[in-house]
Amino acid sequence: MSKLYDVVIIGGGPAGLSAALYAGRARLSTLIIEKDKEGGQIVQTAEIENYPGGLEEESGPTLIDRMSGQADKFGAEKVLDTIEDMDLGGKEKILKGKKDTYRAKTVIIAAGASPVPIGCPGEKEFTGKGVSYCATCDAAFFEDFEVYVVGGGDSAVEEALYLTKFARKVTIIHRRDALRAAKSIQEKAFANEKIAFMWDSVVKELKGDGLLESMVVENVKTKELTEVKADEEDGTFGVFVFIGFKPQSAVFEGKVEMENGYIVTDADMKTNVEGVYAAGDIRVKSLRQVVTAAADGAIAAVQAGKYIEENE
Ligand code: NAP
Repeated sequence: MSKLYDVVIIGGGPAGLSAALYAGRARLSTLIIEKDKEGGQIVQTAEIENYPGGLEEESGPTLIDRMSGQADKFGAEKVLDTIEDMDLGGKEKILKGKKDTYRAKTVIIAAGASPVPIGCPGEKEFTGKGVSYCATCDAAFFEDFEVYVVGGGDSAVEEALYLTKFARKVTIIHRRDALRAAKSIQEKAFANEKIAFMWDSVVKELKGDGLLESMVVENVKTKELTEVKADEEDGTFGVFVFIGFKPQSAVFEGKVEMENGYIVTDADMKTNVEGVYAAGDIRVKSLRQVVTAAADGAIAAVQAGKYIEENE
């Protein structure tokens, strides 16, 4: 039979790694199950200015590397697997993955959120062939090309700024005429000569033959459609999509209480199921940031420790 862990953490982003650090320091046997690549969404962030005590020029990957190393130092085990089903009701929690089945006294759900797609024709077809959801991953492919960034929030504007280091021109396509991003980030974008704006606009279709070559953009006020074509010499351009995130919570449906796809917890990160906690972007909360995810993870791990003590 597989090992019975004190704490199994689903998700290896800032919430999961912080939970692993606190659980490890409390000498709880801890396993992090990550489905893909450690770090979650934040590894896609080129610049993090607002993590307290972060390094000068901190990026998602540099911060995650240090968080991950710290979790390792305190003995957290890690496995790559995707949880497909679970039984959380009993004293012993069972998590069924694609590769293996895991047993735990407590579970911390820190599975995060993933990018929302535009949902227009051509988007799936051109993902990786012009369409991207990660500037850190793909900016270098657009060295000296034109790129478009869809969205008007912190992610869109920050990533647009990052993209100016590579692309010769970056146009932000936003569905309104005012950005949602924090004022300090907006100011940098307005001051950057490489950044242009297409206001009141949405992308309706992405087209090309193998590579992305053009896109249809609608002005939401006038309903006018414009076809934006790649510069003839370039033959292609990039479209980076940052229009928000949705919780990766489908597998937890019916297992813990949810609200609009987000897991409901109390201030101690407890869900409605004994011994099961949620931390980070996947839970109902007002501010989804690395700093709040890390704090959630710490609280969840401490509460998991208390629960184990009280129930042994
Ligand atoms: P967000 O704040 O939800 O912004 C999403 C943007 O996309 C909004 O401007 C929204 O337009 C637009 N949008 C939404 N659906 C759309 C659609 N179907 N078509 C076109 N545009 C659409 O998301 P985010 O920028 O990814 O940020 C998520 C959270 O992470 C936020 O809390 C943010 O503060 C935080 N974050 C913080 C930092 C940082 O502080 N360094 C960096 C990245 C993210 P409207 O404005 O019209 O709604």
